[in-house]
Formats: sequence, structure tokens, C-alpha cells
Amino acid sequence: MNPQDFANVHPPPGGYGLYNVSPGQYPLQGQYPPAGQYPPAGQYPPQGQYPPAGQYPLAQYGGYAPQQYPQQPPMYAENPPQYSQGPPQPGWAASASAPPLEKPESARQVAGLAAPPSPKPGEELEAEGADRTPTTPPLDSMAKLPGYDGLSFEGGGARPPPPPAAMPPPPADHGRVAVQHHVPTQAEVREHLAAFVSEHCCYSKGPVTDMKIVSVTPVPALKYSLDTMTEKRITKWEFLPWRGEPVPPVTGPPPGPWDVMVTLEPHQWFQKLQSTLEIPNTQSVRGCHDCKGERDVRCTRCRGRGYTRCTSCRGHSSHHGGNCSFCHGTRSRRCLCCHGKGMVDCPTCQATGNIRCFVQMTVVWACHKDMKVVERTDLPDDFIKTAVGDEVFRGEDVRVYPLLGFPDEQISAGSVELIKKHQTQWQDERIFRQRHSVESVPVNCVVYSYGSKEGTFFIYGNGNKVHFPDYPSKCCCVIQ
Ligand SMILES: [Zn+2]
Ligand SMILES: [Zn+2]
Ligand SMILES: [Zn+2]
Repeated sequence: MNPQDFANVHPPPGGYGLYNVSPGQYPLQGQYPPAGQYPPAGQYPPQGQYPPAGQYPLAQYGGYAPQQYPQQPPMYAENPPQYSQGPPQPGWAASASAPPLEKPESARQVAGLAAPPSPKPGEELEAEGADRTPTTPPLDSMAKLPGYDGLSFEGGGARPPPPPAAMPPPPADHGRVAVQHHVPTQAEVREHLAAFVSEHCCYSKGPVTDMKIVSVTPVPALKYSLDTMTEKRITKWEFLPWRGEPVPPVTGPPPGPWDVMVTLEPHQWFQKLQSTLEIPNTQSVRGCHDCKGERDVRCTRCRGRGYTRCTSCRGHSSHHGGNCSFCHGTRSRRCLCCHGKGMVDCPTCQATGNIRCFVQMTVVWACHKDMKVVERTDLPDDFIKTAVGDEVFRGEDVRVYPLLGFPDEQISAGSVELIKKHQTQWQDERIFRQRHSVESVPVNCVVYSYGSKEGTFFIYGNGNKVHFPDYPSKCCCVIQ
């Protein structure tokens, strides 16, 4: 059945009249007008009500007034019921495995007849119960979909991705770049040192000009960063109240969770994102399991009585020795949830009587970041992580190759290690995209002598920060 056909089997706004259903709603199986309520085919109008063919009074003889002709019911004239297509249709209507819809105990009638609520004399009154909440259809009534074993309404089950496609071997010279180092001159060293000393009030400026700079050795640090964006696909059963909106027909088995194309724009790459979608060919419409299609259910706050125990006198009719002014001695109060009817709108189908079930998939993207620092001096690695250097390599692709050709062996080995780790670390996630880069952070190791003292300090980062753990000439402005 194509969607156009589906549209045709919808009742017109206001229903088919005899069906007595709300606009846009389908009568359920078993709720058709009882046999006999429709005139059997060929019997409208009843025999004898039309003059036999050829015996119509002709206009020139006075004739019948037009309005005296028996009228066809309007629903037949424009929207003849299509018995051959009677709902529910296989594929979108209640599935064969759905629980049988018992004829409900005329819940609407019950509600209509409910007398003003009041407890019987001596009746044990209970405190208010919890309000009614939506329930999920029984899991064993749900279709078994190929590729979706163990589907539940709770979700949480990630579908492991298919194994990644094999990568061609990495090019041996991948990442071969030239890394330049700038070695500061003696004058530059004193300049950076002067800036450092000026930030410390108790450091004497003497050594800045007087110290002897023995040597300046560049020992640049390298930072290798790998970002891996992954996606996880979580599937679960979901349902929504069905208000008669068209449902695309099931045309075959559903696509597997990883067969569904989900795309992102480049500006969304390497971000934490989440998106939900409906898996095609998993949808079906069924009568609501909660209200059995009746659209209302027993109120759980008053347990269907329409009243609850008076909260003021707790059902004792008197309060502090006098008559309870809250319930005036009736011991009860009208239920605030159902307003005394004993029945409430079914929260599961939102009083539509039907639900549409489908498989919902949640795609969760994450960006995993890793870093490897190669630093060969006594400078703490943490200083390098936050220091700014120059990017000497950058690469981005669906998957990246290890930097086998990078001039520093530890960086090559680090990239091999991290890329391998990211390939296997998240079993439930598929690598969506990767990027990596190498940053060269200048580190210069300065050996100095000042008086009889000899030592080492460091100038590092593009901002020429100085790390001088035992500056030779500090005054003591900290009073003990
Ligand atoms: Zn319901
Ligand atoms: Zn009371
Ligand atoms: Zn109630």
C-alpha cells in the first residue's frame, strides 16, 4: 500500500458518522457499526422507498419536490467506506503478536454514570495514591526485527559497529618535516631573564647583568596530539500516541543500525553531539495496551473511587474535637486528579486509544583527546603541555596514519601507540574522523655562573618563559 492509498482509507474529518469516532481516528477492529446498522449492499434505500425505474413522476406532471427524494447519507455519497481496505492494515496496524484487545468495560460509561463521590458509612478510606504514569507495551508483543535482537524500551544497548575497513600500510615517510630551532643570543637570554626577575619583587637584578652565560643549548620539546571523533549508536523501542497522522508503510526489513546514513557538517566535526532518529520500516500502529483502546483509565490517585481521604481530618470527620471544616464531616474530598470521575485520560496514548511503535536510534558523537609530550630536560612536562609552540605538522582524515617519517623517533613511536590505542579502546564506538598534529615548543637550557655558583635555568615556549628553580640572589622579604 502506498501512502496515497493510506490517505484514502482515512475517515474524513468528523469520521464516517456511524463510526462515532473522533476526527482523524480510526475505529478499531471490533468497533465497526454492528452488523445490520449499515444497510446491506443493494438495500439502500429500503425496497419500495424509491419508485420503481420508469415510474418517477415527471416534472411536467407536477413531480416530486427534489427534497422529497430519499437522500443518500453524505458519507456514502463522497466517502464510501472501503470494506476491502478496512482497518487495521497489515504492516502499520496492530501486529499479529499484539495482545488481543479485550472489549473494555465501557470505561466512558462508568465515568458518565459516576454519582457525586462520597464514601459509604464505615468505609475504610485510603490516602491518595500516586498519579497514573505512562506504561510501555509488553516487550513480548513487539515485533522481532532482524538485526535488532534484545531491543527494549529502556535503551542503553549500543550496537557495536562493524569492523573498520582495512587501511593500506602507512607511508614510511609520513610526517617527514623539517623542525627549525631558534637559539637565543646572549642578549636575548638576559632580556628574558630581566622580564622574569621583574615579576619577582625579592629577586635582585644583579645576576641579570653580572652572571656569566656559559652555554645555551636548544632541547626543543614536542607535543603530539591525537583527536578521535567517534560515534555510538544506541537503539530502543519507542512509542508515541497516534492521532491518525499518516504512517509510511513498511516496505521491507529495517536497515541495520550502522546502515543508516547519518551525516554531519564539517563545522560539527570533533564536537560532542547527540541526535535521535527513527529507523525506517520499524513502525506499527496498535491499540493502546494501557487503556485497551478506551482512551481513559482508572484513576490511581483515588483508585477509581472519585474521592480520597480528607487530608485535614484523615477520614475521622472531626478535627480538634469539632466537625472537620474541610470536608464538613464527609471524611473525604473529591479527587483532584480525576475530578470525581474515577477515570483519567490514558497517559500512555494521551487519550487517543492508539500508539505508534518504532525503533528509535540515538547517535552519540564524542571527541577523545590524547597527547604525548617528548621533553628531554629537567623541565616538568606539565609546563610543556600548557606552553605554546609552533605547529610543525597537521593531518586530518577519516582515519590518520602514524607519523613514521617524523624526524623525532619518540614522536613516531608515540603516534603509533596512540593511534593503535584509539583503534581498539572504544568497542561500541566507530571512528568517525581523526586529526593529529605536532607542535614544537622551544626549550633552551642555559648554563650560567655567578660568583662561585654555577647552575642551569630554562627559557621555554613562544612566550619565552623562564624556569629558574634556584635563582642565585634573593632578598628575604618574607618575614618568618
Ligand atoms: Zn491508552
Ligand atoms: Zn475532614
Ligand atoms: Zn481520581
